[in-house]
Amino acid sequence: MERAGECHSCGECCKTVNMTVVRDITIQQHGSLKELELYLSYRDIRVVGSDEKRNQLYYAMDVPCSELTSENQCRVHESPQKPFICHRFPSSKDDIEDIPECGYSFQPVRRRWP
Ligand code: SF4
Ligand code: SF4
Repeated sequence: MERAGECHSCGECCKTVNMTVVRDITIQQHGSLKELELYLSYRDIRVVGSDEKRNQLYYAMDVPCSELTSENQCRVHESPQKPFICHRFPSSKDDIEDIPECGYSFQPVRRRWP
């Protein structure tokens, strides 16, 4: 897949922190996925995805970046202080699965003939 489109500064990717945790161990610790979700909900953490094959669970926390302005601009955009992950975002389709507003999309790589 190759990335297409462009950023139109909706700011959505700068408003949440996403985390990946080991699925089986975490569910085992909490007894069930439902119990885990209850526990996390008291801390405003949402379980936004689960992948049994990869043994992963995905969390999202609504913690806006302190460098995001009220006009959804990044204060450190042109600076070396901009984090690496922000430069690369989105690097895969999964990154924007929950952000329909995003101006990027991923398309199958087109064959280029010499
Ligand atoms: S540093 Fe800039 S691009 Fe990265 S999350 Fe913060 S506002 Fe967004
Ligand atoms: S979600 Fe997409 S369009 Fe919106 S700020 Fe992030 S990269 Fe740009």
